[in-house]
Amino acid sequence: MAEETIFTKIINGTIPSKLVYHDDLVSAFADINPKAEHHILIVTNKPIPSVSAVTTEDEPALGRLFTVAAKIAKDLGVSESGYRLIVNCGPDGGQEVPHIHMHFLAGGKLGGLGFPQR
Ligand code: AMP
Repeated sequence: MAEETIFTKIINGTIPSKLVYHDDLVSAFADINPKAEHHILIVTNKPIPSVSAVTTEDEPALGRLFTVAAKIAKDLGVSESGYRLIVNCGPDGGQEVPHIHMHFLAGGKLGGLGFPQR
């Protein structure tokens, strides 16, 4: 059996996190190394290794990443002021954890494309 990813351990509660959302398809928790005032990771509960590995079966979970991003934006009061969603893919894309996740970043002007410089 493949080794569990660090995000699977967070979803299962084996590793502690600041969980902000959980349902049958996705979970969301604070990034341990925040690149903005609000930096939340929205993660599929299924450990899909990367966007390159998705199938049509995964579309409900992938769609849920966006509806949960919209909910988090509303909860944080940034739906209108704005935020950034990032999905890193593979080594050249800067993906460190091989388990699909969307970075939700908010809190003031975020600057140019990519992670804000802090
Ligand atoms: P990526 O480079 O897109 O794969 O992003 C992985 C993200 O996971 C990084 O922003 C890390 O700071 C974050 N991360 C790694 N370990 C943890 C953890 N235990 N709890 C929360 N975030 C984590």
